[in-house]
Amino acid sequence: MEALSNRSAIEEHQVKRLHQMLHEVLKTNEFYRTKLSSDGFPEIDSLKKLKQLPFTTKTELVQDQIARPPFGSDLTFSLEKYIRIHQTSGTTGKPMYWLDTEESWEWWAECWKTIFQAAGVRPGDRVYFAFSFGPFIGFWAGWEGARKLGALAISGGGQSTAQRIRAIIDCGATVLVCTPTYAIHMASEARKTGIDLVQQSSIRISIHAGEPGASIPSTKKMIEEMWGAKCYDHPGATEVGAFGFECEARPGGVHVNESEFIAEVIDPESGVAVKEGDKGELVITNLGRIGSPVIRYRTGDLVQPTREPCECGRLFIRLEGGVLGRVDDMVVVRGINVFPSAIENVMREFPEIDEFRIEAVQRRALTELRLTLEPGPECTSTTGLAERVAQKFRESIGLRPQVELVSPGTLPRFELKAKRFFKL
Ligand SMILES: [Zn+2]
Repeated sequence: MEALSNRSAIEEHQVKRLHQMLHEVLKTNEFYRTKLSSDGFPEIDSLKKLKQLPFTTKTELVQDQIARPPFGSDLTFSLEKYIRIHQTSGTTGKPMYWLDTEESWEWWAECWKTIFQAAGVRPGDRVYFAFSFGPFIGFWAGWEGARKLGALAISGGGQSTAQRIRAIIDCGATVLVCTPTYAIHMASEARKTGIDLVQQSSIRISIHAGEPGASIPSTKKMIEEMWGAKCYDHPGATEVGAFGFECEARPGGVHVNESEFIAEVIDPESGVAVKEGDKGELVITNLGRIGSPVIRYRTGDLVQPTREPCECGRLFIRLEGGVLGRVDDMVVVRGINVFPSAIENVMREFPEIDEFRIEAVQRRALTELRLTLEPGPECTSTTGLAERVAQKFRESIGLRPQVELVSPGTLPRFELKAKRFFKL
């Protein structure tokens, strides 16, 4: 970290890595050779020159895999060099496969080691992964990162929620890794069976990914109270890598790991860089995944960047409030921009609500919000609940939704990628 102690040192480091990466990639990677060769291969010796390259979009990558099945052509090496394969969840279309070489898988593990260290996880910690270890990348790389750090990694694959809770207590797990939704679900299931995780578990740190929840203040607070632990956010993506982490200073957002990624934030309409402090779409170039890189990749994530100094001393750019939502998920209701993360922030102020669903319904020219609530075991009476929630929405977001209550167990539960927001 010493070498990256000022802004120009960070940028010099990024340009050097980028140059090395492109040198390798453009020799043999068909996808980027085709994409970047129109004016001869670019000689990138500054970040300004990077900004002259075209963006990479998810649609392009999906189309490439359809045209050249099954793995597409964003491959720098021959197939036998790859040792890991994962796939995206495909919630917004056809799932994509993504391959890693020994080198790039090692790079993933290093990125996760950074996430753990930034949250205060140390060698000797016992890290429990409440994760199914299926084909999605999820926390696979976190599992490798724990090994690199010298922590004890405990798999929660193939386990029921009750078995996971038991293992966390019995093994003396000190760190929990899962989605924010699942952390809340586990804690509320534990309560139903009379287990107090604050007293009975040794979890002191929780790290969450897959959804923005851990940067949403009331969700964070809820997880911390349910587990008696400090809760940290981590944004990442299958095709990009583990690009962000929350530091122990916890300034209300995440850092981008700028030693391994280059971040840009653009206006999603015009593609032009936004001013610092303005919201926009995050664009990422990864520097250590030479076997299957992304260059100027439009993540679809809405963020608000700042370079304000952080108490932790790192100079890496911060995304205030973490990932605020998907650019596509923003809806305008009566002139107000509404993000799913802002809705969740309101909902998590009501511990008596177990699960919820929100729909933005288009009726002629007007969009209306419809909210479905499922009360949990802590709800002793539903009298006035709908009204209180509607009132809170009005105060926080400036809108009053229609509210409907449903009986317990009606709405779906999630282990990965909760889907609660729908546009109808
Ligand atoms: Zn910091």
